[in-house]
Amino acid sequence: MENDSLLKIAGECLNACSGCEIALLNIGETLLDLLPKLDFVHFPILMDHKYYGQLGEKSAIDIPHAAAGIVSGGIRNEDHLAIATEMRKKCDVLISLGTCATHGGIPAMANAFTTEDLLDQYYTTKSTKPGATIPFNGVPKLLDRCYALDEHIKVDIYLPGCPPHPDQIGGAIFALLRGDKLKLPFRSVCDTCPTIRKGKGNIKQIKRFITTPQFDPQKPIDEMECLLEQGYLCSGPVTKAGCSDGCSGGYSSSYSDEYAKNNGGIPRCLGARVPCRGCYGPVKQDGNQLLDMLNALASNGIDINTLPDRDSLLRFSGAHNRLICKKESNK
Ligand code: SF4
Ligand code: SF4
Ligand code: SF4
Repeated sequence: MENDSLLKIAGECLNACSGCEIALLNIGETLLDLLPKLDFVHFPILMDHKYYGQLGEKSAIDIPHAAAGIVSGGIRNEDHLAIATEMRKKCDVLISLGTCATHGGIPAMANAFTTEDLLDQYYTTKSTKPGATIPFNGVPKLLDRCYALDEHIKVDIYLPGCPPHPDQIGGAIFALLRGDKLKLPFRSVCDTCPTIRKGKGNIKQIKRFITTPQFDPQKPIDEMECLLEQGYLCSGPVTKAGCSDGCSGGYSSSYSDEYAKNNGGIPRCLGARVPCRGCYGPVKQDGNQLLDMLNALASNGIDINTLPDRDSLLRFSGAHNRLICKKESNK
């Protein structure tokens, strides 16, 4: 029986790995407060709900009306596009969940290649079956590249992160329930990072993260020198904050580190003494992590031609034509 006091939710997982839905489950005990207030009307990853009617009786995709739609993953093929369009049509508020949805994410690294080259690489030249051809029966047609959701449909709320911090997802759903406006941090990962910055352009060269940075594991993180200043490519300056508990609505603090306890959290990778890889995407939704980082490094006297792998700065935000196929652009 329908209960109109519940918040109707529809969910979709497009060009995605399902990690964002696992983050949703990782909301943990807060879910016990949330679930009685929600009515899932469509969420194929959680429940059996078909696109063309339960018996396949409809001729067009039909998703029920929902107050909130949560979509993870970007748009890579014609099915994704049709489903995203229907979600937009049926959901009053549309949440773009995870960096695949907000900025293309890891799958958008394929934008550095033509679709033909990708298919050729994976279905023909590398096949163990001689003469194998690309499967096409019942397989949705690929688009020319991987798109972020907002390149095709209007998005109301952006929740980046690979995956987003569970508290941010919970915070967004609570905000919708209360009718509040969701406030996300407009800061960089560096702004929330406790490492020591000696500063002033003493970075001489950027090296790969294949050696161990200098830190004392017995000492708290706020006694470790900034990894960028140690010469490791850390994307903290050009990445949106949000992965630490302190940025996420303050429901919980899962870190045992003393600094985290006192300050509400530390960026997730830095907590493990690993450089930020940029998974929350650019600080501004339409920012360009590659350009911003090159600018930051150049202004610190780094010869950007010595960088080990520049394109990797776009490993999470290659949609919006940020990562382009060099072969195509040279035509
Ligand atoms: S953002 Fe990350 S966790 Fe979420 S679907 Fe994409 S790859 Fe998976
Ligand atoms: S370690 Fe990384 S995130 Fe922390 S201050 Fe340095 S550059 Fe920023
Ligand atoms: S530190 Fe950077 S890469 Fe790691 S979780 Fe946070 S935003 Fe993502």
